[in-house]
This record gives sequence, structure tokens and C-alpha cells, in this order.
Amino acid sequence: MTVPVRVRFAPSPTGKVHAGNIHTAIFDYLWARHTGGTFILRIEDTDVERKEAGAVEHMMEALKWLGLDWDEGPGVGGPYGPYYQSQRLPLYKAAAEKLVADGHAYYCFCSTERLEAMHQQQEANKQLTGYDRACRNLTAEECKAKESQGIKSVVRFKVPLEGQMTIHDLIYGDISFDYKNIDDFVMLKSDGYPTYHLANVVDDTAMKITHVIRGEEWISSTPRHLLMYQAFGYTPPQYIHMAMIVGADRAKLSKRRGAISILEYRDMGYLSEALFNFLVLIGWSLDDKTEIMTRQQIIEKFSLERMGRTAAAFNQDKLDWMNGVYIRNLPFDDLADRLLPFLDRYLPPEVKRPLDAVYVKEITPLIKERIITLKEAAAYADFFFLDNLTHDAAKFVDKKTDAATALKALKSAEEKLSALDDFNRDQLETTLRSLAETLGIKAGQLFNVLRVAATARDATPPLFETMAALGQDRCLQRIKSAIAVLSKN
Ligand code: GLU
Repeated sequence: MTVPVRVRFAPSPTGKVHAGNIHTAIFDYLWARHTGGTFILRIEDTDVERKEAGAVEHMMEALKWLGLDWDEGPGVGGPYGPYYQSQRLPLYKAAAEKLVADGHAYYCFCSTERLEAMHQQQEANKQLTGYDRACRNLTAEECKAKESQGIKSVVRFKVPLEGQMTIHDLIYGDISFDYKNIDDFVMLKSDGYPTYHLANVVDDTAMKITHVIRGEEWISSTPRHLLMYQAFGYTPPQYIHMAMIVGADRAKLSKRRGAISILEYRDMGYLSEALFNFLVLIGWSLDDKTEIMTRQQIIEKFSLERMGRTAAAFNQDKLDWMNGVYIRNLPFDDLADRLLPFLDRYLPPEVKRPLDAVYVKEITPLIKERIITLKEAAAYADFFFLDNLTHDAAKFVDKKTDAATALKALKSAEEKLSALDDFNRDQLETTLRSLAETLGIKAGQLFNVLRVAATARDATPPLFETMAALGQDRCLQRIKSAIAVLSKN
């Protein structure tokens, strides 16, 4: 019988979560959902100095927005909690003491000053920096004596002095490490907090994690973890290290290098479905052509075999393209619901609030072809909402149409359109096509002039639908104001 998959996303709350961090959460989630396993969220908040207020909340909001709902963890509980490492300190202390008692670890009383001087010396001698094991062979009495003098200690792991260890990674295969390059690392700090290594191993064991999925930057920590598993007598999980997402310049994405936080994408009007699909494809592919896939399809088809070994670049153009596709594929009602808050936030202040949700639904089909993000809709479609537009006389004139023709066209259109008793799309089209004929100009010329009058823009949605949505009064008023502007010149 195979053991059910249990995977965890284990972020350290040290800042806002960006694509690089959330990427591993996505693959944890996919592996859990694909196998019918469990996806756990564990907060690795043991680095007191780097902890940032609000970071956990931000992280959870980002996970929820992307639909990465966790089965165990903060907020939902579970049988292996607490899921904050800062609430599990006694476990780590007991584990460290056990390894000391079993001869796999030792107390180290070296002062920070001594360690710093040692590092400097090592650097000056161009040696590998690392602990020189000064305390490795202290006797129990020597330790007691130091303790009674009030000297603080850390617990270090006794790494074998020679030999090799090979880790097996499901993506990268076998990777060997020489023990001589691994120093006796700290497991428990003098303030009683564990280091990442100890807490990680203790919790992955306690939480029965079957697969550790994490960024490739943790590969070099893995031999330390495996040494601890051996020393504790625990069975290690399987390892899946993931190629790191890089920027267009192929340099690492990082909080410091301006990586955008996940919630900023939300606030810029990217759809979470699109961002999810996009981020999945940075680390995995179904084949060499399929791009747009629903979450359900991805979950069904997901496989570890097709995860990439090389760092994929974050391609903003592709994300924009994908977001546009997702926007166009959304049912109108759904899109309108999502547009509403963005229009509300970004339309100019003179537009009356609350916005008319029915009207937003009506115009949604007219703008969805042209926007890449939800936020853009406000700037693109403001003319649907403004009472008064400012017309620019120059916009009515082009190679085919001079100002006098434009003016004449507008005046005739005003007359014809005010006589219409039903201002619907088809009526508008019939009326305006026959008007162009009467005027002896191309339909396109007339439409352009009216488009500018109705919207004060060059590029706009389909003319008749737009005019119908604006309504007769507003269209006539805009045509009048365009006539006034053109008459002045
Ligand atoms: N807390 C680590 C991080 O911030 C977790 C790494 C791991 O998954 O083991 O990424």
C-alpha cells in the first residue's frame, strides 16, 4: 500500500510573498491534489530578527487568492499542530538534547567574538569558513563548568569528519557531498530557538511529510537534514528541489531585486486563474504546446516527471497575454463582477458612485477584447461613465476627412439620431449607413467622426454597441459638444 502524500509549504514570514516563493506552494498544492493527498501550511517563524509584522497574513491572503487552500495549518488546524514553529520550541529543545545524549551533537560555548575572529582568519588564509570544532570534544565536566560560569551555549551537530553522502532528488537525481565541506552546524541557538535545519527535520517528521518540495537553493542544506534523520533514526521524506524562477535578465528574483508581491498582481487586475496557470508553466509542462489549462486539467495531468530542471524566466509579456485570454474567456457576468471594484477604485472622482452594476454588465462585452488587466478598464472605458468629455478638434480630422466634412457629418448625424425613437444597435447601423450615402462619404469616415464624438478617443469598442449603451441623450449631447468644438476652429 502506498502512503498518502503529505506535503507542506513552509514559508518564513520575512517579507511579502512573490512569485519565487509562491511557486513552491503551487507545486505542493498540485502534488497533493493530484494524488489526493494533504497540503499543509507551516509557518517557519523562528528567525526572530528577520520576522516581519503582517507577513503571515499577507502570505495567507496570497495563497487564498491563488486558490491554494491548505488542508492543515493556521486557521484550519489539523492533527499535527501547532503549525507555527514559534509555538513548538519545546519539541526542538527535546530533539536537540536527545542528539546530545546519543552522542550525535554537542554543546558549543564559543563566543560570537571568537567565531568572528575565526572566520576572519579563515578568510585571510583562503580556507573554507566554518566552525573549527573547538567544543566538539569537551567532556561532560568541562561543559558543566562552563555552564556554571553562566556561559551560554548552542547545540551543534557532529558531522562525520570524512566520507560522503549522496542525496537523491526526484528532479535532479543523485547529488553527492563531501562531509569535509560541511561544518558542525548549529541546531539550537543560545536563545532556545532552533535553526531552520533542526526545526525543519523535527517538523517534517512530526507532521509525517512524505515529499519535501522546495527551491533548489535548499539543496545544499539537504545533506545536513539527512544526517539528522540518520541520527534520530527517522525515515527521511523524498526530495523535490525546484528550479528557481529567474527574471528576464536571468538573475534571481528576490524581494530586494524588485520582485512584485503576489497581491500586487491582484491589485493590478491580473486574474488569479491566469497567474496560477502562468506560474505552473514556469516549472512544469503538459507537452510542448499546451498553454491555457484549467486548474482541474492541470491537477489531473500533473506529473513530477515533467517538472523542469532548469530555471525558467518570468516572462511578463506572456503573463499579459495569458491574462488577456483569461479575461476574454470569462462569462460576461463573472467578468463584470470582477471589473466593478476596479472601475469603482480607478474611474475619475467625478463619476458618481456607487456605479450601476447593470450598466457595467452591459458594457463589459464591449471592453473585454481590449483590456489586458482589470485595472486598465477604468482608463480604457471612462467615457462610458463620464458626463462630459473634452473633445480635441484635431482628432476629427484625418487624411480622408477634413474639418468641414466632419462638421457637416456631425450636424446631419445629430438631426438623424435625434429623430430615432429606438436607439438600438441595428437601428443605429441602418440609419448611419444610409446617412453616409446621403452625405456622399464613406461609411468608415462617418463612423470615425462619430466614434471620436461619442468617446473622445481614437481607438474604441464597436461603435453602434457603444452608442446604444451610452444612450440617445448622452450621444446627442456629445455630438453637440463636438460640433461646438469644430465650429470654433
Ligand atoms: N522556511 C524555508 C523557506 O523559507 C523552508 C524551506 C523548506 O521548504 O525546507 O523557504
